[in-house]
This record gives sequence, C-alpha cells and structure tokens, in this order.
Amino acid sequence: MRTCVSIIDNNPEEALNSAKLAEQRGADMVELRFDLMSPLPTQLGGFSSVHIPKIATLRLASQGGRYTRSEKDRLAFFQSAMKAGFHLIDLESSSPLWDRREKELRGAHLICSYHDFERTPSGGAILEMMVKASSGAAIPKAAFRVNEIKDLLSIIDAARMFSATGKEFVLIGMGELGEVTRVCADRIGSAFTYASLEKGREAAPGQVDLDSLRRLQDGKVITGIIGHPLSHSLSPAMHESAFLACGIPGRYLTFPVRGDELETFLQVAVEVEMRGFNVTIPHKESIVPLLDRLDPTAEAVRAVNTVVLEGGDAIGYNTDVHGIVMALKEHGVEVKGRKALVLGAGGAARAACAALAGQGARITVANRTRAKAESLAQRFKNIHAVPVEDAQRESFDLVINCTPLGMKGFPDELPISPVIFHEGQFVMDTIYNPPLTRLLQEAQKRGAQIANGESMLVHQALRSFEIWTGKVPPAESMARALREGLE
Ligand code: NAP
Repeated sequence: MRTCVSIIDNNPEEALNSAKLAEQRGADMVELRFDLMSPLPTQLGGFSSVHIPKIATLRLASQGGRYTRSEKDRLAFFQSAMKAGFHLIDLESSSPLWDRREKELRGAHLICSYHDFERTPSGGAILEMMVKASSGAAIPKAAFRVNEIKDLLSIIDAARMFSATGKEFVLIGMGELGEVTRVCADRIGSAFTYASLEKGREAAPGQVDLDSLRRLQDGKVITGIIGHPLSHSLSPAMHESAFLACGIPGRYLTFPVRGDELETFLQVAVEVEMRGFNVTIPHKESIVPLLDRLDPTAEAVRAVNTVVLEGGDAIGYNTDVHGIVMALKEHGVEVKGRKALVLGAGGAARAACAALAGQGARITVANRTRAKAESLAQRFKNIHAVPVEDAQRESFDLVINCTPLGMKGFPDELPISPVIFHEGQFVMDTIYNPPLTRLLQEAQKRGAQIANGESMLVHQALRSFEIWTGKVPPAESMARALREGLE
C-alpha cells in the first residue's frame, strides 16, 4: 500500500524538514500543503532534496484549505512548482483553473480533487464524479465524510466500478467511520493513501499516521468492534497492544453500527477483507441470524461477541463464556456442585450460565423481567429462574452480577439486597468501570471475596485475538492497556 504523507507545517523550512523526515521513515510520496504555509515560499528549489514524488497543493478555503489569494497567483505558483520538479499538482474539480489547464499547466500531472466534509453521495453519484474528473487528470481523488455504514458501501461500490476503467484513483472516507477506507486503501483499489507524519498532525479527519500504516504493509489483519454507542470501548487499546506484542501487522477499528445497519456492515467487512470483529451491546443476539454458522458455545448461548470472516462465511463465537471461566479460575473459585446466583438475563448472563453449567454449578437466575430469566433457564439443564425478591431469601456460594446497574453512565443502584452477601462467598461483577461498584463494596463489607469484570474482559479479548490470528498474546500486555485506559 503506497503512502503519501500530508505535510501541514506553517513554516516552509519546517515543511521541508518534515518532508525529508517522511522520506526517511519510508513514505512513498509527500503532499506539501502550501496553502497552510506563511509566507508562501517563492523559491521551491530546496524541495529538490526530497527525492520521493511530491504533490503541490494550494487547497482553497471552500475545500477545507486556507488559500485565499487569486487564481492568477495560484496558477503562477503551480507553474513554478512544476519547474521545481513537483510530480503532481492537486487542483480542485471546482477550480476555474481547471478549464485552462491544457494551456496554462501543459504537461502537468494533475490530481483532480473533490472534498465533501458533510456527507457521502450514492455510489452512482461518486462514480459519475470520478469519471468526469478523470478526463484530463492523472488521478481523480474524492474524499467524503462518512456518517453511516451505507456511506462506506457507496465508496467501495464506486471504487469497484471505477477500477474497471484501469485508471488510477484515490477514494477516501473521512471521520472515524472512514478510517477503514484509509487502512484498506489498497483493498478498495486506491492508488495510495494519505497519512499524517505523526499522530496528532492530521491534515483531514480520520487520517492515520505513517508509522501505523507502514506496519500494515504486508499481510495486514483488520479487526474491530461493532456496537451502539461505542464511545468508551477499551477493546481497541487492548487489541492494538496485542498486535504490537505479537508482531502482527494488525489494526482494530471502531464501528458505531445501528441495528438496521448490521447487514450492510457485514457486506463492508467482507469487501475490505476484515479478519473478523467483536460484537457488543446491543447486537450480540441480533447478529446471530445474519451469520452463516455458530461454534458450539455460541450455539448454546445464542449470543455472539466474536465473528470470524473465512472463505466468504461469517462464523460466530462467544468468548465471554471463556472470559468468565478464566476469571473464576484466576480467582481460585471452586464451581463444581456449588450454588450460584446469576443476576440478569441478557447476553452476559447467558455466558455466565454457560460457564457455570459447564463446570457443574447449581444455578439460579434472577432478572427484572422474569419471562426473560425463564426463557434463559429453558436453554440450559439444571437452571431455575426466580423473582429477585425470592433470590434474596436464599443463600449462595457464588453471585455474578450481569446487569449494567452500577456501571458508569447507568443508575448506581444495587440489583439485589445486600443481605445476601456473607463470608465464604465469591461475588463477581461483570462491570469493570468503575472497578469497585457499590455491589462489590457491599459484598466486601460483609466478608465476601470479590472480583470485578476486568479479568473476564481481558480473557474474552485474548480468546477473540487467538481465534482471529492463531496467536496467544501476553495477557499482561492486554491487561496493562486496559488499566491505562481506565485511568
Ligand atoms: P443486555 O443483554 O442488555 O442485558 C442486560 C440485563 O440487565 C437484562 O437482563 C436487563 O433486564 C438487566 N437490566 C438492565 N437494566 C436494569 C435495571 N435498571 N434494573 C434491573 N435490571 C436491569 O446486556 P449484557 O450484554 O448482558 O451486559 C450486561 C452487563 O455485563 C454490562 O454491564 C456489561 O458491561 C457487562 N459485560 C461485561 C463483560 C466483560 O468482559 N467484563 C462482557 C460482557 C458484558 P431486563 O431483561 O429486564 O431488561
């Protein structure tokens, strides 16, 4: 995948140094954003010390740049850039210079660019735009703000259709959702992808830094997470640290996906050859009918938190079950024959029931909506559902909270009366943020051994990573990334 670093320094000398640095660090091309420089350099000879292809850009204010001087001055600048050995001139499709290019910019290799910072049009409209831009340009380039998953499909569709012309092009999705079009630019068919020299020096929203893109040169593994909302997910930090620890050229992307976008997302994931993705609230159950098959654990639980894309098939796994099994093991909890209470009846509760049932516990489920607890109980042998008030009158060796009560952003209430906690009992909260929920505080006060959801989270992530890559990352690297994210 060819990378072009956008140089955004205000000072021409610093811009030259940054361009040289980009070349040293392995960039294939550089784009000099002269519209951001003050003053605009009159002598461009110094740039001949940068040997990789150079693009001269004077982005107009109306297209997200800062160039406000006349078109006449712009033309003169581009002419001197050509003389100074700039390989490509970036000219917006809307520029009045476009019609004069054959006369005034004869022999120039032009990038005909278009930017929409608000929205992405349909695939057909993008294609039309690209075909028009390609007449007279070496490379048509268009960048659109990606607001929803269907925008990604529009960009990919247009790229597939335009590829049939055999001409080079660049198509970019801007914003967080558009990042996949940058890291998978080659898979979409783009001639190159724009990069920032460093993190925090992006020329456009969603641009990825050069070092991160260079790591993805060969055999990249693209994974990610879908859910809604996704603002506080710590999975990206954990998986990125695992990729680094294992020396795998991987990237873990974040996709806020609504329920009505699941099918479109699967299409996008297949198109860009994602290795797989995690699934979180609220899609763990609704994704099931869209998958080609489930592994036995996911089948038993009928909830999926990990999808693998293999040979055109989407296969569902549930690594939350493994996460709970490992968390109990890590805390030295004896499960066989013990009396366990699971609070809640959603995806996490199903995983807890599968984990506990697999190890021979006697399980009671108590949930706000009793019918849901009953339907969960029917899925497994030896589980019975009771109202929360009835559970309060019993004694349990193990309690696992699988409701979001006490989680950051949710009501700070207890899912059950604290009278059920006692010495010699193990109480686990699947919540990890905050690390010490009210439930755990109450249990600790009454002498119970406690654990939060950190260990479960790390182990489910380790297992997902192993399913995708065949490698087991050091648990410590993921745990450290999680702790740093929680600080
Ligand atoms: P879910 O499928 O939406 O289920 C939530 C459950 O909690 C439902 O049974 C629901 O009851 C109950 N609930 C929700 N709000 C409640 C309230 N105000 N009062 C009483 N009960 C309430 O969610 P999930 O995927 O199972 O996740 C549940 C929790 O597990 C979350 O806090 C999540 O962070 C945690 N989790 C942790 C990990 C980890 O790795 N540590 C992994 C997965 C999940 P109704 O049936 O009555 O709606």
